[in-house]
This record gives sequence, C-alpha cells and structure tokens, in this order.
Amino acid sequence: MPTYEYECRACHHVFEQFQAMSDEPVKICPVCGKHEVKRLIGGGTGIIFKGSGFYINDSKKASSSSCASCSASKKKETA
Ligand SMILES: [Zn+2]
Repeated sequence: MPTYEYECRACHHVFEQFQAMSDEPVKICPVCGKHEVKRLIGGGTGIIFKGSGFYINDSKKASSSSCASCSASKKKETA
C-alpha cells in the first residue's frame, strides 16, 4: 500500500497517511481539525514509496544488462 502525503492549508501541518488506493483521501487535519487538507502530488503520481527496496526499473534493467555483457566479454578475454 502506498503512503500519501498531505498538507493542511490552514496550519501548514504536513503528514503522511498510509492507505489503500481505494481509500477516501484525508480531508480533515489531525492537528487543527479543519477541512483544509490537500494531498501533495509528487512526480505526477501522488504516491510516495519509502524504504530501501525502492529502485527505478529502467536504470536497474540497463545496468544489469550492460554488466552481464561486460562480465561475459571479460570471461572471454581471461579464458
Ligand atoms: Zn491544520
């Protein structure tokens, strides 16, 4: 499940809410109780992934494929 980031426009309190995509977005500020909470949109998705497991698929694919061909040619050279 993704973590959504919200900001209260009334008191500028920023908080993260761990919720399913199907859940209703947070509308009430947990600090001041006003209905001024807006979801922060980051990178056009509005979803923030946290943790060490995060990586970009494209860069991993590119580096692993180039590394495989690199080690393959190295093996040929040494043998
Ligand atoms: Zn607030």
